Amino acid sequence: MINILDLTLEELKNWMKLNGEKEFRAKQIIDWVYKETWEFEKMSNIPKATIDKIKQEFFIGIPEIIEMYKSEDGNTGKYLLKFNDGNIIETVLMKYSYGNSICVSTQVGCRMGCKFCASTLGGVVRNLTSGEIIGEILAVQKSINERISNVVLMGSGEPFDNFENVIKFLELVNCSYGLNIGQRHITVSTCGLVPKIKEFADKKLQVTLAISLHAPNDHMRKELMPIANKYSIQEIMDACKYYINATNKRITFEYALVSGANDNIECAKELAKLLKGMLCHVNLIPVNEIKENVFRKSTAKRIDEFNSILKSYGIESTVRKEMGADINAACGQLRRKYLDEKSGV
Ligand code: SF4
Repeated sequence: MINILDLTLEELKNWMKLNGEKEFRAKQIIDWVYKETWEFEKMSNIPKATIDKIKQEFFIGIPEIIEMYKSEDGNTGKYLLKFNDGNIIETVLMKYSYGNSICVSTQVGCRMGCKFCASTLGGVVRNLTSGEIIGEILAVQKSINERISNVVLMGSGEPFDNFENVIKFLELVNCSYGLNIGQRHITVSTCGLVPKIKEFADKKLQVTLAISLHAPNDHMRKELMPIANKYSIQEIMDACKYYINATNKRITFEYALVSGANDNIECAKELAKLLKGMLCHVNLIPVNEIKENVFRKSTAKRIDEFNSILKSYGIESTVRKEMGADINAACGQLRRKYLDEKSGV
């Protein structure tokens, strides 16, 4: 069976044609799905014979919300979602003054092994399809009865380790017949898969690219991120310059500040020198503390100092506001907790 959300309108039209159905039925069905009618029988303008045929081939792959936690201030919602094969992922909704933003997962788990991240603790289980990532947005959107206008691909999984499905997702999420979310409202985050950054640049999309850097040199980065053994910071910088030349878009560098590890003044200066002259922005993030590791957040004073040094070198930087800390909103924490409880850990 095929998840109908995995198809573009053109692909569904082709299926209709090949199966002796009228092509315009494809648009009618897609309209129903995106207007949150998720049972074929309820699509009142589609003949029963067509529905019977469709049901033999397709299902509507909306994940089930099995748990939902809201932060005390009501601005963050963390969802545990279950797909029909039983796999569980998490998705985070953040309410901002400019609209609703969602952080989606792109894989069940992750194989990148970043030391500060709970998503990778059990490795990767499988990739999510483009339609399953769309399904995350539709499920959350329906639950709040409000439009979601911004998407970040920064949940569990390395988006570029699931490249083809992520590219198709970006096409689907942007379509006027679907969620119609503009590319400028989308951010894709990678831990630095160099060949894929270049391939992504060649697509010349207008989405924001974020690089999880987290260290100013290879030695320190290797302590935090195993991917640093494969690609050096210099190779990442070269790929970033290639990206900027191809798209003329500013890159965001994510830098999680870990107390006593990568948050000293020398690190700030080294980072500033590394990024000097590049069209970029640095997002400083107090690291998420998880019980499985020893990393602790930098103090607010240290974060401010770090930020000031970057600015003094002319690097644009901001400190990311922490949201949802009271509901384990960091990447992978809630799923981990759920799986641990199920297995009695
Ligand atoms: S930070 Fe991202 S790339 Fe690294 S292990 Fe976690 S989900 Fe994977």
